[in-house]
Amino acid sequence: MLSAPDKVATRMTEDQELNSARSRIEAAFDPELLSAASQTLAELLTTHARSLTEPDTPVLNWQSPAENLKQALEQLLQAPTEESVDSDITNRIQNFRLLAKTMLDRGHNLQNPRYIGHQVPASVPLAGLFDAITAVTNQVMAVYEMGPWATAVELALIEMIGTEIGFTPGEFTGLVTHGGSLANLTGLLAARNQSCPEIGTLGPQAQLDAAPVLLVSADAHYSVTRSANILGIGTEQILKIPLDEQRRIQPQALEELILQCRSEQRTIIAVVACACATPIGAFDPLEQIADLCEKYKVWLHVDAAHGGPTCFSERHRHLTRGLHRADSVVFDAHKMMFIPALSAFLFFKNKAHRFTAFQQQAPYLFDPSAPEIADYDLGLRTIECTKRANSYALWGTWALFGKQIFADLVDVTFETARTFHNLLKEMPDFEAVHDPQCNIVVFRYLPDWLAALPLEQQNMIHFRVRRQIIESGEFYIVHSVLDGQAAFRITVMNPLTKESHLRQLLNSIQTKVEKFKDTIPASVQTDHCEQT
Ligand SMILES: *Cc1c(COP(=O)(O)O)cnc(C)c1O
Repeated sequence: MLSAPDKVATRMTEDQELNSARSRIEAAFDPELLSAASQTLAELLTTHARSLTEPDTPVLNWQSPAENLKQALEQLLQAPTEESVDSDITNRIQNFRLLAKTMLDRGHNLQNPRYIGHQVPASVPLAGLFDAITAVTNQVMAVYEMGPWATAVELALIEMIGTEIGFTPGEFTGLVTHGGSLANLTGLLAARNQSCPEIGTLGPQAQLDAAPVLLVSADAHYSVTRSANILGIGTEQILKIPLDEQRRIQPQALEELILQCRSEQRTIIAVVACACATPIGAFDPLEQIADLCEKYKVWLHVDAAHGGPTCFSERHRHLTRGLHRADSVVFDAHKMMFIPALSAFLFFKNKAHRFTAFQQQAPYLFDPSAPEIADYDLGLRTIECTKRANSYALWGTWALFGKQIFADLVDVTFETARTFHNLLKEMPDFEAVHDPQCNIVVFRYLPDWLAALPLEQQNMIHFRVRRQIIESGEFYIVHSVLDGQAAFRITVMNPLTKESHLRQLLNSIQTKVEKFKDTIPASVQTDHCEQT
C-alpha cells in the first residue's frame, strides 16, 4: 500500500503526463503549424506539377513492393517518441516537407502526359484543392444536419447532371457513393428489391419458382458479377448477352434471351448495358435496348461509369443517346469529369426508387419530429453510413470553370485517341484491335517474325514489353487479353497528352519488342510470368 505522500506524488505525475499530452495535442492542432505546412505544401505541389511536363520525369516511380514497404515502415519506426518529440514549428515543417516530398516522389504521376493507362484521370488540379477542404475539415454526411452543405452540393449536382443526361426534371433522383462499383451494387440492389424483394428479407428461405436472372453485357465490369454474388442472385444466374463484332450488345440476341427467360418463367431482375464497356470502350445501343426493356417491362441498368460524361459534349453525346430511358444509371465523376477519386453518382429515372434499395430503413427512423427533412438525410439511400463529402471537388470545379470544361475534356481526350488510332494505321506492324469510340484504344505490335510465333509467345512478349515500359517510367500503359490474344491498351486520361508523346510510345514499343527477335525462342519462357 502506498503511503499518503506517494499517492500525491503519483497523482502529480499523472497530472503532469496529461498536461504534456495536452500540450502535444495543442502543438499538433496549432493553426500556425497548419499555415506553415499549407504554404510548404503549395510550394511542393507547384514544383511537382511543373516537373511533370518535362521530358524525363518518370511516370510511375517503380520500386518493388518489398522496397517500398521497407521504406514506408522506416518512416514510422523513426517517428518521434515521447522523449524525442519536438514541437518547434520549424523542425516540424522540415519533417513535413520531407514526408510530403516522399509521397510525391514515390507516388504515381497521373498528371504526367505520358500516363495513358487505366481509366483514372489526370484530375483538374484545383479540384484536388477543393477536395482538401473536405479532408482538412473532415466533412462527412449521412443525415442532413451532419453535412448540410455537403448534402446541398450533392443534390445540386444530381439535379444538374441528371438534367444533362436528359431525365425529366422533377421526376428523377440519385445519390453519390464511393465509386462505380458501389453504385452498380446499389442500383442492382434496387432492381432486385423491385422484382424479388423476398431475397432481401427471407434470404435462402425465399420461395421462388425459378432462379431469377440478370441479363448482362458479356463485357460488363466485374463489379456487376460481384454484385450478383453479394445480392444473393448468384453469379451463375448471370446470362451473358451476346455482342456484335464491335463488342456491343446485339439487341436481337437480347430479345431472344428475354423471351427464353419468360418461357422458363424466370424473373429478369435487370438488363445491364454499358456506356461504355471497359475492354475496348464499346457503347451499347441504348435506344434499342431501352425499347426492349419497355416492351417487356424489365429494369434497365446502364453502367455509364466511364462514358456518362459524353452527355456534356455536343460531338459525342450521340454515344449515350437513350441513357435517360434507363431505370438506373451509374456515372463516375472521377473518370471522365477529371475529379479526384472517388466521386460516383447513381441515378434513378423514377425518384420513387430512392428508398427501394434500403426500404427497410423507414425515413422516420432518423428524426420523427422533422419527417420532411428525411429526404435530405442522404444516408437513407446509400450503403455508407459515415460518408466522406466527396462532391466538393466536382461542385467547386463546375462552379469555377463552368460545365464547358467537362465537354472540353471529353472532346480533347477522345480526339487524342483518334489521333493515336491514325498513327497505328500509319506505322508498320502496329495493328489496332478496334476502331475507337472513345478514349480507349487496344492495339498490338505484330511484325511478321512475331506473328509467326505461337500465340503464347506473342502474348508473353506483349506482357514483358509492357512491364519494361512501366518500370522504366517512360510511359504508363496497361495490357489486356481479348479472345485469348494479349494486347496493349491505352486510355487517354490526360488532356495534355500530345501526338508527339504517342509517337514516342510507339517507337519505344517497337524498339523493345525488336530486342526479343534474336533471342527467340530461348528466352521466352511462358511459365513464370503472371497475368494481371
Ligand atoms: C471504372 C468502372 C467501374 C468501376 O468503378 P469504380 O469507380 O472504379 O468502382 C464500373 N464500370 C465501368 C464501366 C467502369 O469503367
